Amino acid sequence: MSRKLVTVRRVGTVQPIPGADRIQLATVDGWAVVVKVGEFAPNDRAIFFEIDSYLPGDDPRWGFLEVGFTVWNEMKGYKIKTAKLKGQISQGILRTLNDFPEVAEVIKDLEEKHGVEKAEEMVRGMSFAEALGVKKYEPPEPGSNVPGERPARPFPSFVQKTDQERIQNLPGVFAAYADEVFQETTKMDGSSMTVYYLREDSQIIETMEPVNPIKEPTVASMKGRFGVCSRNIDLLEAGGGNFWAVARKNKLPEKLSNLNRNYAIQGELCGSSIQKNFEGFQPGFHEFFVFSVWDIDKQQYLEPKAVEELAAELNLKHVPVNGYYKLGDIATEVKALLARAEGKGINGKKREGIVLKQVDGPLSFKAISNSYLLKHGE
Ligand code: ATP
Ligand code: MN
Ligand code: MN
Repeated sequence: MSRKLVTVRRVGTVQPIPGADRIQLATVDGWAVVVKVGEFAPNDRAIFFEIDSYLPGDDPRWGFLEVGFTVWNEMKGYKIKTAKLKGQISQGILRTLNDFPEVAEVIKDLEEKHGVEKAEEMVRGMSFAEALGVKKYEPPEPGSNVPGERPARPFPSFVQKTDQERIQNLPGVFAAYADEVFQETTKMDGSSMTVYYLREDSQIIETMEPVNPIKEPTVASMKGRFGVCSRNIDLLEAGGGNFWAVARKNKLPEKLSNLNRNYAIQGELCGSSIQKNFEGFQPGFHEFFVFSVWDIDKQQYLEPKAVEELAAELNLKHVPVNGYYKLGDIATEVKALLARAEGKGINGKKREGIVLKQVDGPLSFKAISNSYLLKHGE
């Protein structure tokens, strides 16, 4: 599920902010955004740029943000973060369609072709990020290319990536899934890590370039293929830093080869040198905390309980499981789930949030602690 960072939506409510006469608080679905007074009225169409959007600095329409520009991936631009204005949490940027005639044009075309009602529905599912040159900000990944080695491969296409949708974008789930049971885990603030194993008889192996069998004897007796990936890269063993080190420390090549299943185990690489170590690990400590298992043959995730069991069987750590609950019993609206996301991580520091996974189905989403966002500036 790839995130739609730039969407056209209807404004929900627009309310005054105590003590402020030039700004107001607008809502779009489960998000709250500070806007200028008079800029929006309820039910207006607007373009919503979510947090983590990287806005292109060379588009003059973002010139008003110039003091906050940074350079990322050799691009000058603006990273949208959670902000607090006059005591109000504001997430994202809301702009009128007047400023983006290229988007208004697309909508007009759809309305002419399909009618207003159908167009409304189609527009809801669209992302305008590409059209407006907006990128998803990703923190820099560790170096993965090594001189003298083949280039690292991109993340394998036969494994699902580890993204989670934010609850603010799914306000309808409380009504639709109230009676469904979800596993609640703590969201750890490390780096996404996936290890996979393909059996010798897996047809996928034939489509891949060989690893370097001389330089990378991961397990001498291994016949299948074992890989370690960061969020976007299938890492070379020689350039895999903490990812490969933690995989080896946990004997993952051996364990997966003994298990002999076409599985990808996904988890969070956490430790003292990852993501500024907001989790507060001891210097030098790094560990892999499992949160899901992808069945490569079936192209689907294992149930949460089966993931816990497999992690235990393989003697791997699992992200903290807070419990299994009916959604309706823990929250009936976005706000309540966000409040629940506040809490402590495994070392007693403020946690990033929680992840909820449906037990009998594929739905999962995250609720990020707003106080964490404010403190650590994401
Ligand atoms: P970024 O802000 O850089 O996009 P993120 O962590 O917010 O990073 P998301 O896709 O928004 O990325 O959230 C999903 C990520 O959360 C997963 O890729 C995974 O690495 C991480 N994660 C941490 N703890 C858990 C957990 N308990 N369950 C599922 N995913 C988790
Ligand atoms: Mn994210
Ligand atoms: Mn993260």
